[in-house]
Amino acid sequence: MKAITKLMVGTAMLVAMHGAAIAADVVVGVSWSNFQEERWKTDEAAIKKALTAAGAKYISADAQSSASKQLTDVESLISQGATALIVLAQDSDAIGPAVEKATAEGIPVVGYDRLIENPDAFYITFDNKEVGRLQAEGVFKVKPEGNYVFIKGSSADPNADFLFAGQMEVLKKAIDSGKIKNVGEAYTDGWKPENAQKNMEQFLTKANNKIDAVVASNDGTAGGAIAALDAQGLAGSVPVSGQDADKAALNRVALGTQTVSVWKDSRELGKNAAEIALALAGGKKLTEIKGVQVFDGGPKKQKMQSVFLKPQPITKDNLNLVIDAGWITKAEACQGV
Ligand code: BGC
Repeated sequence: MKAITKLMVGTAMLVAMHGAAIAADVVVGVSWSNFQEERWKTDEAAIKKALTAAGAKYISADAQSSASKQLTDVESLISQGATALIVLAQDSDAIGPAVEKATAEGIPVVGYDRLIENPDAFYITFDNKEVGRLQAEGVFKVKPEGNYVFIKGSSADPNADFLFAGQMEVLKKAIDSGKIKNVGEAYTDGWKPENAQKNMEQFLTKANNKIDAVVASNDGTAGGAIAALDAQGLAGSVPVSGQDADKAALNRVALGTQTVSVWKDSRELGKNAAEIALALAGGKKLTEIKGVQVFDGGPKKQKMQSVFLKPQPITKDNLNLVIDAGWITKAEACQGV
C-alpha cells in the first residue's frame, strides 16, 4: 500500500493524473550482493539510467558477499524511503524474511538475476539453464571426449544449479556412454575466482594434470581455473567456458585461453528491471508486467511471475558482436593478440 499512497500525495498525484511520468515520488532501492564483480557495474548504470529518465530516485547498498549484511541493507533501504526494491540475492534462502517484510509492507520486490522463490516477488533474469547449455556446447565442440571438470557457482545462488542442469543436458549422453568422464565438480564459495583456482588446482593434482575440458560457470571462475591451468603450462590447450562477457574474459577468448563466454547484455536486464520496479511501484500487479510468464522451475516449485532474457555465446568467431554492440572496444578485446 505504501507505494500507492505515496503516489497519491502532492505533485506526484498531479503528474499521475496526466498520465505522464508517474515516478516522481518513487525511490528504488537496489540491494547488491557482490558489487566488486565487473558485471554489476554495468547493470547498475542501466538501472540508474532508466530510473533517472523516469524521474525516480536510485538508492543502493552492497552486501559485500555477506548474506547477513544484505538483510540489514534491505531494512536500511526501506527506512531510507524505498518504494520498490530490486534485490540481487547473495543467498536465496537467507534473504527470505527481508523480502517477506517488504512485500507485507506493500513494497514491491524484484528478484534480480537470481531467483528469490517467493511468489509475491517478481523474477527477472536471463535463461540460466540456456546459459549452462551454451557453456557446455562451447567446450564440447572443441573436446567431445575426455576428462571434464565442472567449476560450479556459489551453492547459495540457485543459478549455480540451473547452469549445471543446462550443462548436464548437453553432456549427459556423452557421460552415459563413457566418452566423457566427470573427474571433478565443486561449487565455488561466493563465486570467488581465488576459490575456483584452488578447486582447479586440486582437480589437476588429483587427475595428474589429465584434464581435457573445464566447464566453468562464469568468467570470474574461468579466470581462476585458467590461472591454475597456466601454472601447469596448460592454458590454451584445455577448453574453458565462462559467462558475463567480462572484459578480461573476452580478451582471453581473443587470445585463445578461454573458449567461450556467454554474453548477457545486462544493460537490457537493468533497464527492464528498473521499468518493472517503476510499474510495480505505480500499482501494477505482477501479472500485468509486459512479457510476463510463469516460471516454476525453482527448488520449491513456486509459481513465479517472471521475465527471461536471451543469452548469446561469444567465441573467437563472433567477437565482433560485442564490439559492434559497444560492449567492449576492439582494442580492449584484442589486446596482445
Ligand atoms: C550471475 C552471473 C554472475 C554470478 C557471480 C550469477 O548469479 O548470473 O552473471 O557471474 O552470479 O556474481
